[in-house]
This record gives sequence, structure tokens and C-alpha cells, in this order.
Amino acid sequence: MEVKRCSRCGGFYTFDGNVCPKCTNKDNFELSEFKNFVEANGVEIDSLAQVASQTGISEKNLNRFLDYDGLEGYKELFD
Ligand SMILES: [Zn+2]
Repeated sequence: MEVKRCSRCGGFYTFDGNVCPKCTNKDNFELSEFKNFVEANGVEIDSLAQVASQTGISEKNLNRFLDYDGLEGYKELFD
């Protein structure tokens, strides 16, 4: 099984997910916060920094979310 490194906590895991099992709940929670924020604000968003300051989610994590399945269209918002 492939061993991956969790981009949230740096721990190693073999779980089939974007982050390790310990971080999954928090990651899903922030991902849905991010989606809600984009749905609510859409074209008024200028940058990931703005999203970060208003949601409390780090820019590093927001950048990761842009590569997640289902968020393909989000990248265009932050070019
Ligand atoms: Zn983790």
C-alpha cells in the first residue's frame, strides 16, 4: 500500500484520502466552509488571502483544496 504524507499535520498514513484519518474531519469541514464562502461571494472574491482572512482557513490549505475533485472551476476565480 502506498504511504502518503499528510499535508496538514505531516504524519504518514496509508489511508485512501487527501489527508490522514486524524485530519479528515477538519479537512472536510474547512472544505465545506470554503465552498460555502465561494457560493455566497463568488465574483466578489479577489484572492485566496481574502478568503483566508474571512474564513480563518490557511492559504496553504485553500491552495490544496483547489486541486480537489469537484473544485476544478474554483481555480479560475483566483488566477
Ligand atoms: Zn494529518
